[in-house]
Amino acid sequence: MMKIKFLLFLLCIGFLSCSKLDKNKIIKYQITDQFFNIQFDILEHQIRVEDQLSFRAEKPTDSIHLLLNKQAKIVCISLDEAVLDYHFQNISKMDNYFQPTDSVKGEEYGNAAELTVYFGKKLDKGDIKITYHLTATDSVEKSAFSREYIAYQVKGYIGHKGVFLSPDYFWYPTLPSGFSNYRIEVSCPDSLHIITQGELTKNLIKNNKRYLEWQIRYPAEGLHLVGAKYDVQTSKYNEIDIYTFFFPETQELASSYLSACQRYLAMYEERIGPYPFKKFAVVENFFPTGYGMPSYTLLGSQVLRLPFIIYTSLGHEIAHNWWGNSVYVDYKSGNWCEGLTTYFADYLYKELSNPQEAATYRRDLARDFTVYVKATRDYPLYDFKERTESASRAIGYGKSAMVFHQLRKFIGDSLFGESFKDFYNNNKFQKASWSDIQHSVEKISQQNLDWFFEQWIQRAGAPTIRLLNKSFDQNILNIELAQDEPIYRLIIPIKILTSNGELSRTVELTQKRQSYVFPLEWTPHSIVVDPEFDLLRKLDRNEISPTLSELFAQDSVVVVLPDQCEKNKFEIYKNFLNMFIEGEDKFTVRSADKVDLNKSENLILLGTPAENSLFQKIKFLEQAEVKVDKTQIILNSEIKPKEQELVVLSLHDKNNENRNYAVILIGNKGKIGRVGYLLKHYGKYSFLVFTDGINTVKGVYEVKNSPLSVNF
Ligand SMILES: [Zn+2]
Repeated sequence: MMKIKFLLFLLCIGFLSCSKLDKNKIIKYQITDQFFNIQFDILEHQIRVEDQLSFRAEKPTDSIHLLLNKQAKIVCISLDEAVLDYHFQNISKMDNYFQPTDSVKGEEYGNAAELTVYFGKKLDKGDIKITYHLTATDSVEKSAFSREYIAYQVKGYIGHKGVFLSPDYFWYPTLPSGFSNYRIEVSCPDSLHIITQGELTKNLIKNNKRYLEWQIRYPAEGLHLVGAKYDVQTSKYNEIDIYTFFFPETQELASSYLSACQRYLAMYEERIGPYPFKKFAVVENFFPTGYGMPSYTLLGSQVLRLPFIIYTSLGHEIAHNWWGNSVYVDYKSGNWCEGLTTYFADYLYKELSNPQEAATYRRDLARDFTVYVKATRDYPLYDFKERTESASRAIGYGKSAMVFHQLRKFIGDSLFGESFKDFYNNNKFQKASWSDIQHSVEKISQQNLDWFFEQWIQRAGAPTIRLLNKSFDQNILNIELAQDEPIYRLIIPIKILTSNGELSRTVELTQKRQSYVFPLEWTPHSIVVDPEFDLLRKLDRNEISPTLSELFAQDSVVVVLPDQCEKNKFEIYKNFLNMFIEGEDKFTVRSADKVDLNKSENLILLGTPAENSLFQKIKFLEQAEVKVDKTQIILNSEIKPKEQELVVLSLHDKNNENRNYAVILIGNKGKIGRVGYLLKHYGKYSFLVFTDGINTVKGVYEVKNSPLSVNF
């Protein structure tokens, strides 16, 4: 799940050098403290804010420039009771202090305008008071949350449903970067709760109004305010307050969330170090999100109710309180925190569950990287900022998590654990980079790891390894491995099955081709290179079962309508299709007779073999689990689809390496429900069955012909 990042705040003062402003004359300043008094007017979709802002400049200055939402209505700005002049203008011109940069077309300040405050004298510090009103009416209906895609995001909403104010909305005066302490006093209708970072230091109700105070006593940046009509439940882990802010109809989930939070806090305190905040809250949102902010997580109602969230995403968001939300990311040199959090959460839970699940998870990361990260979409981890679609996710989460896995395999569990305790301890509430990680690991493991960080962080791509030769003669096993350019230094596990059991060995590959010799007492039956997928490498096509993600990763896909089915049934396929292609421009729809199989197009066939004539012209690669013949499809020895089923299979072409297929079959009484919309979230599967619109079967074909697994 996503962690909120503050990309807008990362464009540090350095970019001013490209402007007309004289760099030497720029006086740097920072906001050290902000004290907000905020009144909510829900009917007017408005907040009325009095912000007391303390600044400190490197030398005396007669003005400061701030960013504030361009719709803000400024009432008054004062300093020590004296009213100050100010200028409030949109950011578009070259004479702005905050210069839009070309690379992002000036959109980095989105909702902000530039507020210049004149002191009438020179000051190097001071407390100015800014009073303003601001409305927030983004549409929350459009919002969607997805593991794979990030599209429209709500930035500011105040209304009867609740409150959501993101730092990207610039709802308070701020600078592009820097840390401050905050105190926030809120008054709102007593039915509402307003939540943010820090600790709750006041919560009382008087005359139908609720008065709250939150205090943030650590260097923080990027403040969200969220709220709705919640029932609150609490518990404690040591001195840490744990809250659930859930809607009344979600209360039955509160106790399991509270106890899961306790477990995760205990687990990460032991693995990394003391939890950095005074509270942790799970907050239900009134529109779909999966955000992790410092000391709380904001999960949409639907997400919160998914049964697996408590075992996966909740832990991921809690782990972010160490990685990303207290050790901050220095985005200039790459976002390391998603990979590290994935490794310390999603991956770790698999490993704690069982080793086979962990190996499958690693294989899936390598597969996603192989399938999604085409050369044109590849870049080094040094350049990863945030995920936007499957390829950036496969790099910034998947490859990155595997880099940590390989590091751990190389230095060992204990030094790995110590290194990240050290990294946390030394970088809490500061920005940290990959080099800070390298620094801690080198210090703890007492070795130079330039080669490791160079090949994995500075380089795009991943190695490809091949088993070139093998022989066994006079009790000596000989194998030769090869890799493509550029050369990586790789520690490769090898499994040897002999007549007397299984042997595990590791070899180091540092050249293009390298041979290895193993004296063996017993005759080998087979060898498997990287049997548990401990390396992030590009997988061979034969190591990858066909999955839907291969199709979803393509730039263009042809969907073929059935040409031999009844009219009613045809309408069902059309309905499904309309859902499936909504908002996607890569799909072209054609009838079966308009498809030219000589072109290497990727195809999705709608209809059973009896309903779609194209089946008769295609030779699918056989999979053990599925058999396609002229009139029917058999999946795991059952004829599909049954009356109430919708079946999805992903298949490879026997004669064309570059072509991917999916076939979608609907039974005669099949209800499609929302499957058309949901299918893109099932990319990792080879086959799926939905019964009356609910997923009932899912799986991946077994790999039979891996070139890294050979028999003697
Ligand atoms: Zn995350």
